[in-house]
Amino acid sequence: MTAERMKNLHPYVPGEQPKDRKYIKLNANENPYPPSPEVIKAIKKAVKKSPEKIGLYPDPDSNELKDAIADMLNCCGGVLCRSVPCSGKKIMPSSSDALPFKITPDMIYAGNGSDEVLSFIFYAFFDSDRPVVLPEHTYSFYPVYAGFYGIPMEKIPLNGDWTLNKEKILEKALEYDSGIIFANPNAPTTLGISKEEVKSLLEKSPKDKVFVVDEAYVDFGGESCLSLLENYKNLIIVRTFSKSLCGAGMRLGYAVASPELINYITTVKNCLNHFPIDYLSQKAGIAACESAWYYAECAKSVAFERDEFIDFLRERGWYVLDSQTNFVFCKKEGLSGEDIYKKIKQEGILVRHFNTSGIEDYIRITVGTSLQMASLKKVIEKI
Ligand SMILES: *Cc1c(COP(=O)(O)O)cnc(C)c1O
Repeated sequence: MTAERMKNLHPYVPGEQPKDRKYIKLNANENPYPPSPEVIKAIKKAVKKSPEKIGLYPDPDSNELKDAIADMLNCCGGVLCRSVPCSGKKIMPSSSDALPFKITPDMIYAGNGSDEVLSFIFYAFFDSDRPVVLPEHTYSFYPVYAGFYGIPMEKIPLNGDWTLNKEKILEKALEYDSGIIFANPNAPTTLGISKEEVKSLLEKSPKDKVFVVDEAYVDFGGESCLSLLENYKNLIIVRTFSKSLCGAGMRLGYAVASPELINYITTVKNCLNHFPIDYLSQKAGIAACESAWYYAECAKSVAFERDEFIDFLRERGWYVLDSQTNFVFCKKEGLSGEDIYKKIKQEGILVRHFNTSGIEDYIRITVGTSLQMASLKKVIEKI
């Protein structure tokens, strides 16, 4: 009954979203903190003041939201956990994160979660005539999109220490004259490469193919590549409200790139879903961007809990990668990843285990509040 193309579909499997039992959920890299009170206020106000707007189509291009995103990025430099508070609930970038130019709204595409934005990018820029180059272990949605659109892939194994094999990525991109995508910091490995390292890759890789850096986690550490947009017109940076902006339920994500590339993504959008962001999410997203100071505090708390937790695990003989994200990637000698996952689940806490060859010994644990982490530590003491 189905079309032939259905054979190429291998759906993404997200972390469990259980309904039967109240688990502490540390399995989907969601933010444990609530959204800013300003977000709640904005949603209430929108419903109360202009309920008729629910019955009308929203702004198809989310222009006010794009303005707010640009303002937020200019104010924090792209890494919330290093931003510096200044007076009146405002923040500014640390000196190392300050942008050398202003990001303008025409450099932003806003969409229904960065997953949708990524899907449009795959459609617009990666062709079926050559493989897109990506790390073997990275965000597992990339291969799903490649399958969906019939794009071949060249998967580059990570180095033995889980870092990106930059040389091999570059070599293959040049060999095939093709585009590149990876997450920075990478998932599920939590490690990032520096802006200088990205720059040196950009410098040598094909200039007429897109180079996509997914910065879903960069607000928790690492270095943003936003400042490289000034000189590299083939660079696309993808970011999301789901992790550092406590908004996974709002489904908001965006790309930052040259206006020319943004126009291509917009064209794809207008052929698939003209109104990707609903009225209330646009309002909520604007309020979130205006509360960057609040999310900076949340990101700092998450980074603090993360570093404490990594020390805790290492003191107990776990192998843990350094993390620049809101999660940790770890294993314990003598226990399989699946065993650890099951033992922790029995105690009412969900973490993520991947049945993927090469990383099956590891588990991925999202960093929660200090209360949640205290519960988890108790469980781990028992393992
Ligand atoms: C969570 C995540 C996303 C998806 O974000 P949404 O905006 O919720 O769709 C994209 N990329 C990476 C690497 C992620 O971890």
